[in-house]
Amino acid sequence: MEDVFVYVQGKFMCLIIIFRSMKCYLCKTCLFVAIILTITSCARTPYDITNKKYRKQAKALTKTIRLTEPVTLTDSAAAVIPSDWVGTVNFGLRKPNYVIIHYTAQKTAQETLTAFTDPKREVSAHYVIGRDGKIYHMLNDYLRAWHAGVAKWGNNTDVNSSSIGIELDNTSEEPFAPAQINSLLALLTKLKKAYNIPTANFIGHSDIAPPRKQDPGVYFPWKTLAKKGFGLWYDDTLIPCPDDMDIIMALRIVGYDTSDLKSAIIAFKRHFIQTNIDPQFSGPEMDVLYNLYRKY
Ligand SMILES: [Zn+2]
Repeated sequence: MEDVFVYVQGKFMCLIIIFRSMKCYLCKTCLFVAIILTITSCARTPYDITNKKYRKQAKALTKTIRLTEPVTLTDSAAAVIPSDWVGTVNFGLRKPNYVIIHYTAQKTAQETLTAFTDPKREVSAHYVIGRDGKIYHMLNDYLRAWHAGVAKWGNNTDVNSSSIGIELDNTSEEPFAPAQINSLLALLTKLKKAYNIPTANFIGHSDIAPPRKQDPGVYFPWKTLAKKGFGLWYDDTLIPCPDDMDIIMALRIVGYDTSDLKSAIIAFKRHFIQTNIDPQFSGPEMDVLYNLYRKY
């Protein structure tokens, strides 16, 4: 609220000064003050303060990257293992290899922006997309956002470190706005190309945290995304699955953590079936699982 107050106050000051400068256009002092205050006040946004903090935190991280100290280790006899620093000249930044899609479960994008700029909330994402299609880029793609939480996909147990998080403004009980999905598709196209992200690695928060999360939910158009190359989908014609198909193995091959099997089945169905998320498979749903797992 403090940030918003500063923003409104800045705009108000700006209007007053412009108005005054128009009335006393011969007064050089007034015009000078108007120019200075216009530059300083009109440029303010509600996020000037948190944007400044962002730059400060990013700068602090470069100190870690610039460290050139050799690893310090001891062997089983507590003797120091010799080590030295010899910097290579052949390196680059690590790239994200997954995209995790979320809904915000909020009424407005503004509520999400407020939460993600509040240090007490300790949550964030790289992007937030409003219902109107506006994209808010909140974190450099190379940095680690706090969007996945405790999660697992395959043997990847630190999804935040390898992924980009995208939050869609949505209450969780409504279809996604077409403008929002259009912007999402444009963003995914850019990310997939920029980081060479595999088609199968566009997944949802509920996929990587079945017992805890339901987003992006049953209204999310996964099939539409898959048609564009973001995430896998099953074929229109399904081959009946064998009677002895191992459901747990099939789910694990797709990537699901099956330590809570009931939650894993619900998560799979929330993504690929959507019309029914009971924690068991019907015959046709087993065919879907059979068709899908062979694509992974
Ligand atoms: Zn989420």
